[in-house]
Amino acid sequence: MSPPLVRFEGVSKRFGGTVAVEDVSLDIQEGEFFALLGPSGCGKTTLMRLLAGFEAPDAGRILLDGRDIAALPPHRRPVHMMFQSYALFPHLSVAQNVAFGLKGLPKAAAAARVEEMLALVRLDGLGARKPHQLSGGQQQRVALARALAPRPRILLLDEPMAALDRKLREETQLELMALQRRLAMTFMIVTHDQDEAMVVADRMAVMQSGRLAQVGPPRELYERPASRAVARFIGEVNLFGDQAVRPESITLHRQPQPDALAGTVTDYAYLGDRTRYLVQTEAALVKATAPGAPTFSSGDQVWLTWPTDAAVRLER
Ligand code: ATP
Repeated sequence: MSPPLVRFEGVSKRFGGTVAVEDVSLDIQEGEFFALLGPSGCGKTTLMRLLAGFEAPDAGRILLDGRDIAALPPHRRPVHMMFQSYALFPHLSVAQNVAFGLKGLPKAAAAARVEEMLALVRLDGLGARKPHQLSGGQQQRVALARALAPRPRILLLDEPMAALDRKLREETQLELMALQRRLAMTFMIVTHDQDEAMVVADRMAVMQSGRLAQVGPPRELYERPASRAVARFIGEVNLFGDQAVRPESITLHRQPQPDALAGTVTDYAYLGDRTRYLVQTEAALVKATAPGAPTFSSGDQVWLTWPTDAAVRLER
């Protein structure tokens, strides 16, 4: 079997007394869309910077195609890191920005590659503009074209959609996925937005205090979280002792039911496609969602049930 495209092997990184990344081992396969998710300061960006070569690990190794890349400076690694701020050169045109990483190529070949990249991100005809003459979404696409032009093996995206408003963000997520599939490239994205990670990623890792708390396909992390922390971080969850139950698994009834939890609706919010309820029971405040418009209101006495297999037992 061929080695994974990237392998982190027991990688750690400290800054003075702060542990940014601790003993991380992780494989990323060629062609994967991988998301790193976690709260602010958990080490996501540092892990990416280690792969890009902007930081050196204190312990462990990073392998690319099975080879240790410690000795390779950032510009020699077949890795491109695209920053949140896009870092476009304001005095250069769009085309010159995209051509920036193509310095080794003959002029005609570079010009052809720039055209190809601008077409890829649907910016044909805008090559002569300066970055400030573009919308935020267009600037993001220039950064993407510039990143992809030198054909990196892996593209690292650090919060690539942070500067976009919600609607544009959702469109951009879909575009990014389509682009990644079309190019059959490996993308690694850092985000603190769980919905974004779930939309785009084939697999994701939740990081916590420098460590990987869980790695797997989005559905596995959502349906089978390994710990309370992961369950809480991905989506909404109710914790009953060592059991986790998602709000959408809970049904509200008007009449008493066998084995139901009795409570009172204290609040509800209509979200268009569903209604979110808060129900005060003796033991806890329970979150429940039901499809469609509200059918209960505040003060209603209700009984809550959920299928047995909807309760996930958490070890930690
Ligand atoms: P965010 O989502 O806020 O960007 P993150 O998960 O990307 O956070 P990192 O930027 O990797 O987190 O930071 C991890 C930890 O390392 C934090 O405690 C941070 O303060 C610290 N850290 C990162 N870079 C440096 C540095 N150059 N010098 C000192 N401490 C640093």
